[in-house]
Amino acid sequence: MKYRSAVFRKKPYNDNDGGDFVKAVAEMTDYHIKHNEKYAALCLDAGFTTDMLKTEKDLEKLPFIPTLTFKRHCLFTLPEKRIPVKATSSGTGGAAGVIGFELSGLFCALKMVLKIFSYKKLFSLKPTNYVIFGYKPDKNNKTAVSKTAFGATLFAPALHRTYALTRRNGRYEADLDSVCKAIVGYCKRRHPVRFMGFPSYTYFAMKLLADKGINVKLPKGSKIMLAGGWKQYYREQVDKKEFYDTAKRVLGVDDCDIVEFYGAVEHPVSYCDCKNHNFHIPSYSRVIIRDVTTLKPLPYGRTGLVELITPMIKATPITAVMPDDLGVLYDGESCGCGIKSPYLKIIGRVGLKDIKTCAAGASELLGEIKL
Ligand SMILES: [Zn+2]
Repeated sequence: MKYRSAVFRKKPYNDNDGGDFVKAVAEMTDYHIKHNEKYAALCLDAGFTTDMLKTEKDLEKLPFIPTLTFKRHCLFTLPEKRIPVKATSSGTGGAAGVIGFELSGLFCALKMVLKIFSYKKLFSLKPTNYVIFGYKPDKNNKTAVSKTAFGATLFAPALHRTYALTRRNGRYEADLDSVCKAIVGYCKRRHPVRFMGFPSYTYFAMKLLADKGINVKLPKGSKIMLAGGWKQYYREQVDKKEFYDTAKRVLGVDDCDIVEFYGAVEHPVSYCDCKNHNFHIPSYSRVIIRDVTTLKPLPYGRTGLVELITPMIKATPITAVMPDDLGVLYDGESCGCGIKSPYLKIIGRVGLKDIKTCAAGASELLGEIKL
């Protein structure tokens, strides 16, 4: 896996790879074809062989798997004893997809996260109070979202963690009143505060503070980190500008201290927004937008189905996957932040009614609390 290693040694952005990405995808696809009968059959069916992958443009020939498939079938390439981590993509209703990760793939993921976090200057040695707008992890909740939210509290030493969603009588409840009290309490101390989690809950907590007439100033060095969320944004229709304005007004946090992440269990690449809040494609992945009916690749600026490609994982054939998102890709240079790779905007979902995700689950929960 020498090309995969080369890809995950790259800087997150503007690091010319001299064709390593395509070679890494070919190397990984070869591996899945050799060790996974179902995947080999899929490639055979599509008339695909890895020698067809020579340039970036050829990536569009690679067969992709809709993420829904992982919710219905177990598609591991490696035997289960070599899969130390299994992550489920949805924990709050609906079918859960299971994606297995092997140690070497997890190591790539770790290198990627460290590079992206240091690029965004998110490591800190200052003791920090955390407000987590997500699920409090426990032995019954193994979703990737709760693991990620907890993991993100390790990048600056945690003094205290307050969770917005806690389990009571066997089900999760959002307790934003307690969260608001914790925020006010944290602001009386000198330690920085970090918010982490679903944008929708973060927004509703800020609204609740505003409704109570409370305006605070989070201590210097505080950050708002959003994750798990484009889907939420779509469901809840929270406008980004309104979000940043509210954060400034209610918490005294500038938009440069608000960082948003995107990632999916089926495509575990970390996407982080740039200073203009666009999601550029990092060195570790590629994105193709396809026409909804013909599935032909579309140029920049056109809306279609989103296909996500990464050579990260051997345990499950997630090299090219298609979630149920609709998106648009834009020329990176048009952003103006200095990052050259294209950026992706997710603008909706297909099959909203029949596909239940954690986003839908979260909005059901929101419906149960009075705001
Ligand atoms: Zn940018």
